[in-house]
Amino acid sequence: MKISADMQQRLLAASLAARAHSHSPYSNYAVGAAVLDEQGRIHVGANIENAAYPQGNCAEATALGAMVMAGGKQAVAVLVTGPGPDVITPCGGCRQKLREFAGPDLLVIAGDPAGIQQQWTLEQLLPFSFGPSHLAPAVNQNKNKEKT
Ligand SMILES: [Zn+2]
Repeated sequence: MKISADMQQRLLAASLAARAHSHSPYSNYAVGAAVLDEQGRIHVGANIENAAYPQGNCAEATALGAMVMAGGKQAVAVLVTGPGPDVITPCGGCRQKLREFAGPDLLVIAGDPAGIQQQWTLEQLLPFSFGPSHLAPAVNQNKNKEKT
């Protein structure tokens, strides 16, 4: 899905502001994320590291959690910001987490303090993805079993 240049700039500003809240004392790699939901609202997150490393959260996961808690159902676009100048992309785990709340046409935008760097669709970053529709037949089967 395409979004306006104005909205892209709003997402960039929100993502950079979220990045300022990053808790990344171990990697010193601060990341921000801004998710645009189906209602046109922006939800933000930053990476939150933990002394027990695997317990850390990525910025995208934090932003998706905020979206869900606000009642958002679908992500339309996500803008991720890192320190630059290297282009940041969502990690593999976050690509799958985004897929839970978006179709393959989700717009994924990368940026840094200097501006927007690059953009893709989720399909380009996570081709042949596994998503909720794969489980729909099983879920429906289980619902039918519960009825009988
Ligand atoms: Zn991640």
